[in-house]
Amino acid sequence: MDQVEEIKQKVDMVELVQEYVPLKRAGRNFKGLCPFHGEKTPSFMVNPELQIYKCFGCGEGGDAYSFLQRIEGMEFGEALQTLAKRVGVTLESYRPSGTEEVREKLIGINTLAAQAYHYVLTKHKAGKGALEYLTGRGISEESIEKFNLGYAPDEWEFLTKYMTKKKHGTDELRRAGLVVEGRGYDRFRNRIMFPLANARGQIMGFAGRILGGEGQAKYVNTPETEIYHKSELLYGLDVTRSEIKHAGWVVVVEGEVDMIASWQSGVKNVVAIKGSALTDKQVEILRRISDTVVLALDADVAGDSAARRGIEIADKAGLMIKIARLEGAKDPGELAIQKPEEWKRAVAEAIPIYDFYIESAVTRHGLDVAGKKKIGVELLPIWANIFDEIVKAHYIKKLAEVLGVHEDDVRAQLAKIQKPNNKSTNEIQNSNEQTKKTRREVREERVVLMALLGKRTKELREIPWIKTDFWRRVVENINDLPGELKPRVQELLMTEEEFTEKKWEEAKDLLEQVDVEERLTGEEDPVKITSLTHRRAELTKDK
Ligand SMILES: [Zn+2]
Repeated sequence: MDQVEEIKQKVDMVELVQEYVPLKRAGRNFKGLCPFHGEKTPSFMVNPELQIYKCFGCGEGGDAYSFLQRIEGMEFGEALQTLAKRVGVTLESYRPSGTEEVREKLIGINTLAAQAYHYVLTKHKAGKGALEYLTGRGISEESIEKFNLGYAPDEWEFLTKYMTKKKHGTDELRRAGLVVEGRGYDRFRNRIMFPLANARGQIMGFAGRILGGEGQAKYVNTPETEIYHKSELLYGLDVTRSEIKHAGWVVVVEGEVDMIASWQSGVKNVVAIKGSALTDKQVEILRRISDTVVLALDADVAGDSAARRGIEIADKAGLMIKIARLEGAKDPGELAIQKPEEWKRAVAEAIPIYDFYIESAVTRHGLDVAGKKKIGVELLPIWANIFDEIVKAHYIKKLAEVLGVHEDDVRAQLAKIQKPNNKSTNEIQNSNEQTKKTRREVREERVVLMALLGKRTKELREIPWIKTDFWRRVVENINDLPGELKPRVQELLMTEEEFTEKKWEEAKDLLEQVDVEERLTGEEDPVKITSLTHRRAELTKDK
């Protein structure tokens, strides 16, 4: 057995998944809320015997390796190394793929660069001004160490020269985003450097902030590279993950300085995003470790359409969203540093986003007839998209009260703008899955399932009506399935269904029926269901 297989068999899949989502036993499987898509009723299954998982909502499925790759954004090699360590297996030989090599190399370069910048800031005279600037702004020494802050000196080739000594050429630096495309000089000059680490502390890129002064961009960031993707990164998460998990809620601010300031003030369950909009990827990461997001953004959330889109994504994923109001302060960073107690209160007293929308609209439009109309025009499209029906009902009632109208009037107006196609992801997925399979496939699948559950594989091999390519091959190789057939068969086995003699007989009958029909009509997989099959379906329903 090779090591990949050995490790896979040693990993406790249920335990591994439980680190991200709680699971409950359900028959042979464990069940929980899918970490990959928003849902309120669990359709995510883990099978401890087969060591696999499958979501019947979004279709994600696989083994321990693919689970880690998906949930942690790891390459296969990283997942392999992580799991090997976990089960105490020493990898004998593992050759990383091309992408993995590039990834490792670029992270290595970023790490070296961060060390150089950090050294200049904390130890070198060239960094003295920057260090004074930071401490003058209230950033503590502890934070400078914890977040590995640095300073890029005011030189064109500081990093390029340093890296050449470390045997890294300009091409590699360009790939890491540290050198300006086409020019070959340092991207970051005379800037305070914030290494941007992913949740595992690997440095993917940098944000460089000016020390003050005018006429320059306040921030210069690493452009999108092979490893740095702005929309996936949550700044600070590598430091604050356990605090967020422990608190169950997370404060989201804009920008590195606000994040560090909050952390310093004692509000440690905090991360930063770039800009005002949460992305799908960020929401996916946050909803695994928290159920409430407190937004403390510079942007006016009610007016900023990007911010609103982010809120909608978070709402759909089942997160509770609140808004922290910063009265009198310019931004969260300033408040957290100058008046930490007020910052703590602001996040603790954050109000639910929909209450905030109402409040903000009433303040801006007033409550005369024209104002009420404007409030309706502004809020109803938002109300229409509230994912949870109970929350929606609550806010329809509340809006009606505020406007002094009947709830039915709000509902009637809402119905006019309600999008007709508001299916949940679940429904879309399920209907897709059903339309993809032919009736023959569905029935063959059922026969195979029953045979496997009831250990009737010998009988199965004698059934002549299994004809689709996939299931024919499964039947022929049933005792030793080749790799490419395995996943679908394993998924099939994750059902909660139990074997009974009766179901087994029925499954075989129904398949035989399709076969007879096809031969009679000369058609493969007739679309219309004949009355005979109808009657059969009626007879076998709910047994
Ligand atoms: Zn799912």
